[in-house]
Amino acid sequence: MKKQPGIFNDVIGPVMRGPSSSHTAASWRAAKMSMDILNEPLKKAIIEFDKNGAWAPNYREQGTTVGIDGGLLGIEMTDDRMKFTEKVAQEMEVSINYEISSFKTNHVNTVRINLESINGNQIQVLAVSLGGGSVEVREINGFEVSMCGDYYELLIFNKKSDPFPENLKSIFPSNKTINESFNDDKRLINVKFSKEISNKALQKLKETIIFDKLLIVHPVLPVISGNEIELPFSSVESMLNYAEEKNLDLAAIGLLYEKCQSGLDEVEVVTKMNYIVDIIENSIKTGLAGTKYEDRILPQQSHLIDKAHKKGKILKNSIINKIIENVSAIMESKSAMEVVVANPTAGSCGVVGGVLRAVADHIDATKDELIQAYFATGIIGAYFAQGPGFSAEEHGCQVECGASAGMAAAGIVQLFGGTARQAVDAASMAIQNMIGLVCDPIADRVEAPCLGKNVSAAVNALSSATMSCAGYNALIPLNEVIETVSTVSSQMPTCVKCTGKGGLAITKTACMIKEKLNTNKAHLVSN
Ligand code: SF4
Repeated sequence: MKKQPGIFNDVIGPVMRGPSSSHTAASWRAAKMSMDILNEPLKKAIIEFDKNGAWAPNYREQGTTVGIDGGLLGIEMTDDRMKFTEKVAQEMEVSINYEISSFKTNHVNTVRINLESINGNQIQVLAVSLGGGSVEVREINGFEVSMCGDYYELLIFNKKSDPFPENLKSIFPSNKTINESFNDDKRLINVKFSKEISNKALQKLKETIIFDKLLIVHPVLPVISGNEIELPFSSVESMLNYAEEKNLDLAAIGLLYEKCQSGLDEVEVVTKMNYIVDIIENSIKTGLAGTKYEDRILPQQSHLIDKAHKKGKILKNSIINKIIENVSAIMESKSAMEVVVANPTAGSCGVVGGVLRAVADHIDATKDELIQAYFATGIIGAYFAQGPGFSAEEHGCQVECGASAGMAAAGIVQLFGGTARQAVDAASMAIQNMIGLVCDPIADRVEAPCLGKNVSAAVNALSSATMSCAGYNALIPLNEVIETVSTVSSQMPTCVKCTGKGGLAITKTACMIKEKLNTNKAHLVSN
């Protein structure tokens, strides 16, 4: 069974710069964890992508290099220097090279990170991106591991013949799990913790065990795992029954879900959501104020809606205008490497933020009501994450714009004052409308047709929420709709799953746009 996803760890977030959460944020996290494993200043890195994987054809255009560079160089994802990581690497005299090669992996989004420190020590880390910024380190120097960045990880390297440190449990009674892995005559012991490991306990361990190397890998996710409290429901239907029995709306259920998942109290969870909402609101303002970035297909367009409105060229005072404007503004911020919230992914980051802002303005909702709506979106995303997850490379755009449409529909019902069941039905309807949506970004940039898909997902969310609140029948329950997304995904060809090998991406015009952009980029890099 899949681990229960958290709203902040797996759905709303990461807070990031860059075009793609699965490329930029996940690779940043993998690189950051790799630097803890190297545990010395970096001199040289060789980053490999498998020739048969989804990252090989577009790793540069979709921002994987930016993410890896940033993580290796210690640049935070929100830092302005993420816009020019190659320059920072040069200044720090760190060499980072990217190669397409061939290695064993069972995941389309795999990266092999080879690092050499200034002292000549070398490590090799194999990591996979699971969609929406989630990452899993699966191998360290040939040892099998499973590290998702949600724990403090103690790594003890020694020989297979060395005695197993039986005192691990007594020194660290708060450890969550202890795993052993072997590579020839060597052993790796991985101990997971939900709290920072104290120097005193670490010192005691060092004095009493035989080891070759001992390291700590710090968490990279916003919520540390291992503090979960049991949820009072275990499926969409039991959640709805619970909501009805307790007379709770979907926002209250979402808040309860995240409290149980994180072990944090209500104030901490609401404060985290408040921070997220502020960043999303700011990305709308930044987009509307005007953005620029060299390696980009579309110019600023979000300001055109207001202009057209003032000239009477489009409908007067339509909420649709506001939705298009807000969604475009967020997407433009993303394309300009400004700070956005992947929600649930960077490619689909315009949907929830854009439409919730428009609806909140239309009905004069308060900030607190807006925050509540985000909790309603979050729990829909959490159920989606338990299903296919958010990797377009595995499932196409139905798990980016499709998922975000479902989340947004539930959030709008919450703003309308609807019930938990109406919100879940609205999510079901919105996702039904986007099943089978392909991922075919033009020139491998997450701009077009992504913008149009974000706008249509947002409008779809509003119509689905309206229909649900008016009493329309969703017919197919949300859990069955989410299962269908996975089924349809298995029937979709790989060429329309973010590979740049199908759909609009291979039209004559798209090929010309790509050639022009790549020539410009080569020119920029050489200058
Ligand atoms: S088409 Fe959809 S899934 Fe693909 S990059 Fe664009 S927004 Fe993401």
